[in-house]
Amino acid sequence: MESESKLLIDTSILYRSMQKFYDKRLSTYDLGSGQLPLLLLIYENEGISMQQLAKLGSFDKGTITRGLVKLEEQGYIQIKTNRDDKRIRQLTTCEKTKDIISKAYMIRREWWEQATKELDASQVALFEDLQHRIANRARVMEIDEDRHMRIFGIQKLTLLDYPGKVACTLFSGGCNFRCPYCQNSDLVFLSEDLIEIDRMDMEQFLEKRKGLLEGVCISGGEALLQEGIEELLIRIRQMGYAIKLDTNGSKPKKLKELIDKQLIDYVAMDVKNDPSHYGETIGISDFDLSPIMESVELLKHGRIPYEFRTTVVKEYHNEERLKALAQWLKGGSVYYLQPFVDSEKTILKGLHPHDTQDLYAFQVICNAYIPTKIRGL
Ligand code: SF4
Repeated sequence: MESESKLLIDTSILYRSMQKFYDKRLSTYDLGSGQLPLLLLIYENEGISMQQLAKLGSFDKGTITRGLVKLEEQGYIQIKTNRDDKRIRQLTTCEKTKDIISKAYMIRREWWEQATKELDASQVALFEDLQHRIANRARVMEIDEDRHMRIFGIQKLTLLDYPGKVACTLFSGGCNFRCPYCQNSDLVFLSEDLIEIDRMDMEQFLEKRKGLLEGVCISGGEALLQEGIEELLIRIRQMGYAIKLDTNGSKPKKLKELIDKQLIDYVAMDVKNDPSHYGETIGISDFDLSPIMESVELLKHGRIPYEFRTTVVKEYHNEERLKALAQWLKGGSVYYLQPFVDSEKTILKGLHPHDTQDLYAFQVICNAYIPTKIRGL
């Protein structure tokens, strides 16, 4: 009799069969089937943090904590606190693991060979592909429920956005600033006709471009406002890309956390104007500048490459203001002046760029305090 729950039952049989097989073979090493994926993932990603491991294998916190404590007690792994950030626990395998790891892989292989014995190579390959795609979809479904990072645009190729790298750019949505000269008003206000990029499509695009692109730029809106950013960066990192983040600097704690977790390789921070004219330049008159100052200091004294940059608009910037701004950034590594370019999407209409000669004069003034370049002429 054909059951209506065929898929459910087949999945359950596969899972139980694999568990029993692993448990039996692994009992020699005092390991259980639930511990094997943890051990293999740590071995393949020495130094991985607990949180990254949880994301990588879609493990829940309770399962992973129990599994890791047991593996440590058994002498298979070490759990060490990160030297720079006491909140991060890093995982490495011990000698005991290295002694048995080839046997563990062999056990995994043995089960798979037996289970697929009646299939030819092309059927096995097809099954692996379909299973992988279904698992990825299931992973995305879990992420969806955890409020994933929402991306509203992809620039598939850029030679300009990521210094020294061939890259693509992902555009997030939403921003806590209202810069009158902003050219992404649709992203800032999340206009109703804006279509979110399907997560699977985005991942497939990035998978296909491996080896062709070197980096991924995360731009805005302001990407650090979104809860799912860390998960997205981990996923991009797993695919082997370098990551550049564009930010308005309003979330220094989140920025530091992601830098500390080594999920960002390069930061481009917009510094909108000198402190006295910051509020009017971002469209928020009573703006508290302290988070911006914190981000500036974080980058100046941090460990990763970065740039400060300002979109120069005639109505908001002049020699005096840019001089005060450059004095503030003194000690920074590099500063870019970018001329304002008018477009249909700017928040406020009727703004103007400075003349090219003015920009060169601003460059000379700023260069006295921080190495300054002009981009976009
Ligand atoms: S320019 Fe950047 S910070 Fe300003 S509103 Fe647009 S996206 Fe936000």
